[in-house]
Amino acid sequence: MSKIENTNCLIIGSGPAGYTAAIYAARADMEPIMYEGLQPGGQLTTTNEVENFPGYPEGVTGPDMMNQLKAQAERFNTKVRPGFIKKVDFSGDVHKCWADDGTEIHAKTVIISTGASAMYLGLESEQKYLKMGGGVSACAVCDGFFYKNQETVIVGAGDTACEEAHYLSKLCSKVTMLVRRDEFRASRIMEDRVRNTENIEILVNTETEEVLGDDMGVTGVRVINNKTKETKEIPCTGFFVAIGHKPNTDIFKEYINLDETGYVKYEKPGTSLTNVKGVFVAGDAADNVYRQAVTAAGTGCMAALDAERYLAALEG
Ligand code: NDP
Repeated sequence: MSKIENTNCLIIGSGPAGYTAAIYAARADMEPIMYEGLQPGGQLTTTNEVENFPGYPEGVTGPDMMNQLKAQAERFNTKVRPGFIKKVDFSGDVHKCWADDGTEIHAKTVIISTGASAMYLGLESEQKYLKMGGGVSACAVCDGFFYKNQETVIVGAGDTACEEAHYLSKLCSKVTMLVRRDEFRASRIMEDRVRNTENIEILVNTETEEVLGDDMGVTGVRVINNKTKETKEIPCTGFFVAIGHKPNTDIFKEYINLDETGYVKYEKPGTSLTNVKGVFVAGDAADNVYRQAVTAAGTGCMAALDAERYLAALEG
């Protein structure tokens, strides 16, 4: 039989959104419990250097920043636990959540901060350099700066790929965009922007066969034209993947309103409210536009304040 534990506030997920929510909730005496999730620390733990989070003039590594956020949350007695929530039932006034450690949590408020996962091609060579921190990235705004005046390649033809290619074009000497069909998925205006940028070369009907490199990191990419079967190597030091993100919201879909791509829909814009009373959302689980650590942290704060107000009204 599972152990039942009651709490004022359960925070699901441990990226910047979850930890910021925890810091605010804990300082408001809500005694939050956090389950870290499958990737403790979230997406930032796969980033080398974070230079755009305010307050770190010298930059900070993603894992260091997440360790500091965790320490700050624990300083105010957030119970941070390894493991993940595998099932929820939001049908009643008390929100029931089942953790993989066998605990059944009955929470008055729940903050969903499960984030989103960048999708990758899944090539062995891509994963090797990603893990090495040696030139593979899914975030141009985070990592583009490290490729200043260098040549980069970006995969994808959606709005994100166009936005990121354009961002990279301002920093890099050349950006090659690999488009797997002969047309873009992106909106016309975004497509026109990349087409009209001098140092962006677009290769259509082109797929990645292998990311090439050495002990130091990426040196190029071998691509194949899927119509002519012709292959060629493109030199680059940065390989960016912009083929979409998947929000980690599957376990909530029975109860929480999601959009067609799985992002949580806000019940009321400008708040963290979901369609279920007492359940709030923060960070990338509801954001397919900004996706930054600092915006996630901001919405984490909002979720904790909304949860605190909801609890205060309950206790009336
Ligand atoms: P999308 O799903 O819109 O686009 C993904 C792109 O990646 C497509 O071109 C797709 O190709 C390509 N792709 C997918 N898998 C592979 C693969 N294995 N190999 C090569 N290419 C692949 O994702 P986005 O992240 O671009 O956008 C998500 C949502 O966010 C969209 O609704 C978008 O409009 C929105 N958005 C809006 C922005 C804005 O308004 N400023 C900015 C960024 C995103 P194919 O077309 O062949 O399937």
